[in-house]
Amino acid sequence: MPAELVFTPPRRAKPPRHLADLTRAERRAVVSEMGLPAFRADQVSHQWFSRLEFDPDAWTDVPAAIRGRLAATLTPDLLTPVKEIACDDGETVKTLWRLFDGALVESVLMRYPKRVTMCISSQAGCGMNCPFCATGQAGLTRNLSTAEIVGQVAAGARALAAGEVAGGPGRVGNVVFMGMGEPLANYRSVVAAARRLIAEPPEGLGLSGRGITISTVGLVPRMRQLATEGMPVTLAVSLHAPDDELRDELVPVNNRWPVAEVLAAAWEYADRTHRRISIEYALIRDINDQAWRADELARLLRGHLVHVNLIPLNPTPGSKWTASEPQVEAEFVRRLELGGIAVTVRDTRGREIDGACGQLAAAD
Ligand code: SAH
Repeated sequence: MPAELVFTPPRRAKPPRHLADLTRAERRAVVSEMGLPAFRADQVSHQWFSRLEFDPDAWTDVPAAIRGRLAATLTPDLLTPVKEIACDDGETVKTLWRLFDGALVESVLMRYPKRVTMCISSQAGCGMNCPFCATGQAGLTRNLSTAEIVGQVAAGARALAAGEVAGGPGRVGNVVFMGMGEPLANYRSVVAAARRLIAEPPEGLGLSGRGITISTVGLVPRMRQLATEGMPVTLAVSLHAPDDELRDELVPVNNRWPVAEVLAAAWEYADRTHRRISIEYALIRDINDQAWRADELARLLRGHLVHVNLIPLNPTPGSKWTASEPQVEAEFVRRLELGGIAVTVRDTRGREIDGACGQLAAAD
């Protein structure tokens, strides 16, 4: 075979290192290694995290002669916006980002009357293969780095601060790891990203841990580990069925960690953190929306620190499934409430821009 036809797998280069990957001490060490005083790292951190000023030309407290070098070392471009689409009069904005190696991810900013929520991606693609979710259909491309995750929030925070989002200047209140990917399958980067989101500026973005939600299909060992991190973040569990028979199909990783184990790990998380568990349940017509499943769900959850978030199924390409009938949804809610379970139906945003739950597929 001619040499040029021999397949050499692409080298899996790592994303460039960035300020947001590093703690304050690590940033100072990097700058010292450059032969510059360590406090320059604090200045760059202040510009990036406190002022949300990403343009080195505007770092006026740093000598112009070293701005370029500092930026090249500490703030390489990681996320290039490829496409931005909005709906809800500009109050829901989905951004498609190209990463350094061409991988694509999406994030969604949602402005509500009293808060702004950002839905961010933790992986390019997803390996969990849930049949009703568009992200899983193309498989996993790769994990995102900490800075690639934090950068999605920082970009939204900057746009809000600059008044570029409809509704006037604002701040990011909530961050949900509910975009592309399974956060707990990229555990280290996701936990570090959450820490950076919470850390006070200039170390991080200074968001409240209580406003951060990490959503999982139920990777039990990682749920247990997350409970030991000492971070006050909310854990959301994508349950979608109370019985293993159906959940095996809807969330294939259930074959490895069944409902009882996932819920046991969730209760452990609630006990340790005193944070209420959020159970996500996409209502799929004639699949998981029967009254008996509502009763069974209520039975499993009763007596625990928990809240159910029902998500009307969002349409995805190639899926024959659709959302439940309104009266079926109402009956499901009624039965959970009768069972003493706190329940809300998600105010789904971004359906018309393929920006809603399960619709992020990052097509150019
Ligand atoms: N992998 C994590 C993070 C994704 S969060 C997880 O599964 O929890 C996205 C949420 O939207 C999950 O609860 C997911 O199950 C749900 N979802 C996926 N596809 C959906 C769809 N088509 N309609 C409504 N919700 C969906």
